[in-house]
Amino acid sequence: MDFALTEEQRMLQDMGKNFAESEIAPYVEEDEKNQHWRREIFDKMAELGFFGFSIDEQYGGNGMGFLEGALIIEQVAKVHTSWRMPFNMQDWGPALTIQKFGTKEQKEQYIPKFVSGEYVGNFAMTEADVGSDVAAMTTHAEDRGDHFVINGSKMWITNGTVADYGLLYVNTTKGGGAKGVTCLIVDYNLPGITRAKIHDKFGLLGSNTGEITFEDVKVPKDAVLGGPENINNGFKVCMIQLNATRLGCAAGALGLSAACLEASINYANERSQFGKPIGRYQLIQQQIAEMKIEHEALAALVFKAAWLKDKGLPNQMETSMAKLFSAKAAVHAANECMKLFGSFGYSLEYPCGRFLRDSKQFETLEGTSNMHTLIVANAALGFSPNRT
Ligand SMILES: Cc1cc2nc3c(=O)[nH]c(=O)nc-3n(C[C@H](O)[C@H](O)[C@H](O)COP(=O)(O)OP(=O)(O)OC[C@H]3O[C@@H](n4cnc5c(N)ncnc54)[C@H](O)[C@@H]3O)c2cc1C
Repeated sequence: MDFALTEEQRMLQDMGKNFAESEIAPYVEEDEKNQHWRREIFDKMAELGFFGFSIDEQYGGNGMGFLEGALIIEQVAKVHTSWRMPFNMQDWGPALTIQKFGTKEQKEQYIPKFVSGEYVGNFAMTEADVGSDVAAMTTHAEDRGDHFVINGSKMWITNGTVADYGLLYVNTTKGGGAKGVTCLIVDYNLPGITRAKIHDKFGLLGSNTGEITFEDVKVPKDAVLGGPENINNGFKVCMIQLNATRLGCAAGALGLSAACLEASINYANERSQFGKPIGRYQLIQQQIAEMKIEHEALAALVFKAAWLKDKGLPNQMETSMAKLFSAKAAVHAANECMKLFGSFGYSLEYPCGRFLRDSKQFETLEGTSNMHTLIVANAALGFSPNRT
């Protein structure tokens, strides 16, 4: 067992850190205040190859893998957690899923453009009445021979109003449940699609979130991921896609946990009360120790799951363990950070409020903590196999 990073991995980490500190940090406050998704940052991330970690070189990726991707996400999310999102919306969401399931034409047409950032991507399964129970989705694509006609609405979709193309999960067999879901590669400029930004979110304020409505939207049959023979095979695709993007989520939480820890340590050393720095008091030390241990434990879970993915070994349980624990660690770290800063933590001039707001996403997005508890328990009990 080797816990050391390679020279190349350390250089990547540094590159992610330098990028985040020079290109993202200057805009955090402004973009949080205006709830603004900044295209220039997205473009620079694409230029640096951030959207190709699990993509083969023939499609423009660097093929380095999940571990390298997670190392970069951690650094980016540490500075502004909203920017963990495009890794999932480009690389581990649409591009990797098309690489796994797409036809030759689909791979050639779409993957290089998601990797280069020419296409802003997303994936959409959630609806106003359908979240955890993905198979119950009601956005319906009616088969009209050589094309589908889509009606329905998707809610809470990241990059909802800025995506060019994305993976759209629809129902193609009414009442079919998991056996009636199909994955389409959708062009968001098609007539009949309307999109509205969701304003006034609790956190993730630098990330775009929207509602997308489909009204008699005509989509050709070759939009089915993997071709028309994959109609009604989308549920499996969805689960496999989520198993990749959930790691991106957990790596983002690792970055946030690092930010909380660093801010707390600095403050504990700077702030004095009763004649000495508060970090000298054992109750503060307990807070720091817990945050540090949980951060290290989370890192171990994230990197182990990434390593398993890169080796092609079963990892669904380990990915869910990382995702579930990431929510606990990030929320706890943000909460402790806020307490440690006292009243200053309550001021919007300090980042503690943002940390706390951003931490709560990890309990819900890409599967709620309850859902991940079920995945872990079912695999541990032997009720369901641990999948790749
Ligand atoms: C900022 C943001 C960005 C998002 N981005 C995307 C995106 O890009 N694409 C996308 O498709 N979705 C996206 N989502 C949606 C998100 O993934 C869903 O909200 C999430 O899956 C939970 O669904 P829900 O909100 O409908 O909760 P529900 O499923 O209604 O759950 C409500 C509560 O009930 C619990 N619960 C439900 N079923 C069970 C059960 N069987 N046992 C025990 N407890 C249960 C849940 O754990 C939760 O606590 C985003 C959401 C947000 C807030």
